[in-house]
Amino acid sequence: MTVTAILKTKGSNEIATVRADATVREAVALLAEKRIGAAVVSPDGATIEGIISERDIVKSIARLGADALDAPVSTVMTRNVETCTGEERSQTLLQRMTAGRFRHMPVVEGARMTGVLSIGDVVKYRLDELEHEKTALEDMVKGF
Ligand code: AMP
Repeated sequence: MTVTAILKTKGSNEIATVRADATVREAVALLAEKRIGAAVVSPDGATIEGIISERDIVKSIARLGADALDAPVSTVMTRNVETCTGEERSQTLLQRMTAGRFRHMPVVEGARMTGVLSIGDVVKYRLDELEHEKTALEDMVKGF
């Protein structure tokens, strides 16, 4: 199934973004408020400058202690962000996230970001998909 289909089942297409000149403290507040593990760093909600995840924040706190919270997001974020398009399939997405050791993937169409998927969204979708396939096969065997 495609990324677009997974985004549709998610219901909300809200994209949590933070500006590069915001403080890490502000990014932490956003992650806590939205109950998410990463935010896309963007000046306008559509273009991608980077991504900041809880892992980046933990690494920075380990290095700088509480001072890490006053640093700008730009000093902590990952700049080289891997993205996907709506046509990509869930299996490919899981392979890319596993190989790259990250759990968040912004979805882009042209130059604009249209959503973000977490590995949890993709795994949930794949499990539902496999469950449907299993039920269909069982029904076939039973002669329905
Ligand atoms: P995560 O597993 O998503 O919490 O992120 C682990 C590390 O990968 C952090 O350094 C993130 O900034 C980075 N990261 C997260 N998502 C992506 C992505 N789509 N492309 C590149 N790096 C990412």
